[in-house]
Amino acid sequence: MTTEQVDVLVIGAGPSGSVAASIINKAGYKVKIVEKEQFPRFVIGESLLPKCMEALDAAGFLPAVKAHGFQEKYGAKFVNTAGQIMDFNFSDQFTEGWKWTWQVKRAELDTLLATEVEKMGVPVEYKTTVTDIKFAADGSSTTTMTTPAGEAKQVEAKFIVDGSGYGRVIPRMFGMERPSNLPPRKTLFTHIRDTRRNNYVEPNRILIVDHAPGVWAWCIPFSDGITSCGFVSEPGFFDAFTGTPEEQLRAIIASDPNIAERFEGCEFLFEPRVIQSWSATCDKFFGDGFVLTGNVTEFLDPVFSSGVTLAVTSSRMAADLVVRQLNGEKVDWQKDYMDVMMTGVDAFRTYVMAWYDGRLQKIFFNDYRPTDVVNKICSVLAGYVWDQNNEYVKDSENQVNRLIRMIDLSKQIEA
Ligand SMILES: Cc1cc2nc3c(=O)[nH]c(=O)nc-3n(C[C@H](O)[C@H](O)[C@H](O)COP(=O)(O)OP(=O)(O)OC[C@H]3O[C@@H](n4cnc5c(N)ncnc54)[C@H](O)[C@@H]3O)c2cc1C
Repeated sequence: MTTEQVDVLVIGAGPSGSVAASIINKAGYKVKIVEKEQFPRFVIGESLLPKCMEALDAAGFLPAVKAHGFQEKYGAKFVNTAGQIMDFNFSDQFTEGWKWTWQVKRAELDTLLATEVEKMGVPVEYKTTVTDIKFAADGSSTTTMTTPAGEAKQVEAKFIVDGSGYGRVIPRMFGMERPSNLPPRKTLFTHIRDTRRNNYVEPNRILIVDHAPGVWAWCIPFSDGITSCGFVSEPGFFDAFTGTPEEQLRAIIASDPNIAERFEGCEFLFEPRVIQSWSATCDKFFGDGFVLTGNVTEFLDPVFSSGVTLAVTSSRMAADLVVRQLNGEKVDWQKDYMDVMMTGVDAFRTYVMAWYDGRLQKIFFNDYRPTDVVNKICSVLAGYVWDQNNEYVKDSENQVNRLIRMIDLSKQIEA
């Protein structure tokens, strides 16, 4: 069996893996990425948030991503079946920061980032699956993997960054997985040739459709006239729809007044796919000789497009700490990494919970809309969930509940 030595082994060439690899490589360390699939490969997660631009910038990816011509994204529009609209423009957000981002086909984005990191000198080995990891007492490790030829090989590393996404390599191998406290949800989605798009929407924002209590849909337009569309709900909702996945999705779309006409008869680019029970978390995001980044750490829910932003923000933060540790500094992983990440995750969690229990719809689809409040919630939706000057981040649960009380009061006064 061949054995290779690197400073840092990165598992997974998703956005999280590529960002971490680039930053550690720039600091002068020998990095290697191993990736189970051949790229381009499909993965869901097509609507980015402005906050993620900071990590893409730190990794040196922005010029290449800009040059690719992805659909620019300036906001998010929420609609309900009564035709009420809440349109967030990132240009209005409270926090200083990026005001726009992109809507992307992930096969294209992820291939682009992995190619860029290869150009920077980091080898990416595709079709290579990590099968075993042994850690020594000093945190160094020997990882066994299967090569495209089906042979086993080993990589010895001083440190491992696990960015394996839904693969969750280290949590599964070392029993660190924990069930999420969110109920299991399911999605049925496809890409649609959106020929009537211009009659209905500006493509430079995503549309989130509040279809029924606990049921919502995303519409994410891409630059080539294709739009990603998927419904999300607890699994039981889909049981009422029969036939092939295409027949089911067409029937669900036809039942929603906001998108029925727009997508009627439009071509589906692939048979609708199902993903379910995606929420997951784990005990710890780090250990002796490794750190978990991106989806491996905790994934809540897709409703606010937070996945890629949390993935690249965590891997940027982790990569900086890996460099400091390799430089001989003592790193407090709990305080400087996990606690910081959880601050952002927990702020998002408030809004995810409030979306599914209907409080957020009450806020969004309402005439009582103080501008400063809208702008502060807009910052959350732009991914700025670490801004402690924003009380809708710092004290999110209480502020959401306070707002609901003010809405109720304004209705009583009107009445
Ligand atoms: C229904 C749904 C909709 C979503 N919508 C959005 C959205 O609009 N916006 C958003 O930001 N996020 C969204 N997400 C979340 C998004 O999919 C993830 O957060 C994002 O892909 C995480 O990136 P990552 O780099 O951590 O992992 P990934 O992108 O999953 O990359 C991990 C890589 O690791 C590789 N790997 C796995 N196991 C191994 C192994 N054993 N050896 C080697 N390599 C391995 C995989 O092949 C993969 O390429 C959505 C999620 C769901 C479920």
